[in-house]
Amino acid sequence: MSCREYDAVVVGLGPAGSTAVRLLGEKGLRVLGIDRVQFPRWKPCGGGLSARAIPLLPSGWEKVPYVLTTGVQVTMGDSLFQSVDMGVPIAYQFHRDQLDYFLFEKAKGEGAEIETGSSLEDLAYEEGIGFTLLIDGANIKTKRLIAADGITSQVKRLLFGSPREFRRIPRGSGKNSSGHSGWPSSELLGKAAEPTDDRYVLIDIGSVPGGYAWSFPKDGPGKALGVAGLLNPLPSPVRTLRDFLKSFRGEKEDPSDGEVSTWVIPSWQSVKEHGTIEGLFLVGDAGGIVDPFLGEGIYYAILSASKAVQAIVAENDPGKASESYSNWVRQDMFRDFAQASRLSAVIYRFPAIYYRLISSYPQLLTLFSQIMTGRHDYRSFSRAAGIKLLRLPFKKFIPSLRTGRRFF
Ligand SMILES: Cc1cc2nc3c(=O)[nH]c(=O)nc-3n(C[C@H](O)[C@H](O)[C@H](O)COP(=O)(O)OP(=O)(O)OC[C@H]3O[C@@H](n4cnc5c(N)ncnc54)[C@H](O)[C@@H]3O)c2cc1C
Repeated sequence: MSCREYDAVVVGLGPAGSTAVRLLGEKGLRVLGIDRVQFPRWKPCGGGLSARAIPLLPSGWEKVPYVLTTGVQVTMGDSLFQSVDMGVPIAYQFHRDQLDYFLFEKAKGEGAEIETGSSLEDLAYEEGIGFTLLIDGANIKTKRLIAADGITSQVKRLLFGSPREFRRIPRGSGKNSSGHSGWPSSELLGKAAEPTDDRYVLIDIGSVPGGYAWSFPKDGPGKALGVAGLLNPLPSPVRTLRDFLKSFRGEKEDPSDGEVSTWVIPSWQSVKEHGTIEGLFLVGDAGGIVDPFLGEGIYYAILSASKAVQAIVAENDPGKASESYSNWVRQDMFRDFAQASRLSAVIYRFPAIYYRLISSYPQLLTLFSQIMTGRHDYRSFSRAAGIKLLRLPFKKFIPSLRTGRRFF
């Protein structure tokens, strides 16, 4: 049996994997990147990329078709909405297949070997020796393995067994159902019944129990319409999406199951494997590196891949490199996600209070959008929002809370 050796192997070539391969190749490492499918490929996703990700993209990204959004509209069901236009880019709305294909093409640089349509058949780790992968009948050896194979990560399954917590998407809830730790969500590319202003991303906090619904503009006639339950798994994401589309003033479609895809947004709390194997780097969805408040993952996939490569380049020793990367995940990312989870717990449990707050004080929305531009993370946002909230005349709505009166 043939045997090849690489400085690093990357499994999965979505935004995380393609970024890792590109950066490792640029640093002169001999790297192999594999994906089980051919590109361009489709992935259920809103395709909203926050503005803070732009500096991390390779040159030429602006040629990929996108719609620039500079504002946020928040709705609470049918007619109410609060909107703020920041006048600066907060998110770029891509079609995921196009964005991923661009990143994939950019990964094909010097030093990088790419294999698509290749599956990982087996994987073993031996302390002090490294990883042996069986790919399409060939043995591949490496001391640095980057798992970028998404929420269904086979690397993780082969190294650690099945995920401990399973949250199953109910049967018949759409195509691409899987059983992995995270939050089931549904999405379709639909048309808006009324003309809408493409400057805004629309977030509805009234129609999804424990989560939100979205409508993101796209280049071309369609809009990405979806729902995610971020506090509790949605028992039937497709039904929730349908209900949102029915109740919502702009989007009047009643999708058939064939048009809707259901997939899972990973939960950071369920990924405990960071730092447990020397030379292993879990990036993007495979590492649970997804914001638990918005379910944003593309930026974090690119960021975490960049951090893994930084650690590999800075530390010749694979064990020290993976330790340094894992420390970053736990101390930086997961601490911020813990704060984002606290925010989710309050806002998605009491959306009416949140809506009331941003209706009275839209500057809170402006402050929140600064997470998307990179000026704040969840911790610094919460501190800044806390200071602002302390200055607000709470008496305005606290009596109505005590007496249980409705806000609207
Ligand atoms: C409905 C929905 C809407 C979303 N909307 C947004 C949004 O608007 N904005 C945002 O930022 N995030 C969004 N996300 C999250 C975002 O899609 C993910 O966080 C992001 O795709 C993670 O990128 P990744 O590279 O880690 O994994 P992926 O994009 O999932 O890529 C993983 C790759 O690994 C390959 N692979 C899998 N198994 C193997 C194997 N065994 N061998 C080889 N290759 C393998 C797959 O083919 C795939 O190409 C959304 C998620 C969902 C479910």
